[in-house]
Amino acid sequence: MIDANGNELRTKQYRSKVTKNFKNDLTIHQYEMIKWNKKLTFYSTFKTDVTASNSLELITNQKHRRVVAKLRAGNHKLRIETGRHSTPKLPEDLRICQYSSSNEVENEVHFILSCNKYDTIRKSLVEDIISNYPDFDYLNAQ
Ligand SMILES: [Zn+2]
Repeated sequence: MIDANGNELRTKQYRSKVTKNFKNDLTIHQYEMIKWNKKLTFYSTFKTDVTASNSLELITNQKHRRVVAKLRAGNHKLRIETGRHSTPKLPEDLRICQYSSSNEVENEVHFILSCNKYDTIRKSLVEDIISNYPDFDYLNAQ
């Protein structure tokens, strides 16, 4: 085998070099997808590199892990996504939550942190978190 510079390589060395180049190109491609794909806007708010993430492995319930993974990847029924696929496509600022009176776009952040529809569930979860992690409430004050 001969590489792009005309250097003869043994097969094992050549494979290693090709594999390394392929992994590098794949990393660059994945990074560009995360950075520029509108569907991954939410994902890119907390995932800024392409290294393996073990946060999902911390969720032991398979059903819960699947739901979190789908939410992270924009694979859900919130209006930020359904409006993207409606005909005609609904402008992003008009994808308003139909369950709350806040006139906020129904995106992942709205769903998790502020939608009135989930206030009761959210309050219960926050109380559960605070009982296990008393310092958690300080995050709210900052
Ligand atoms: Zn809402």
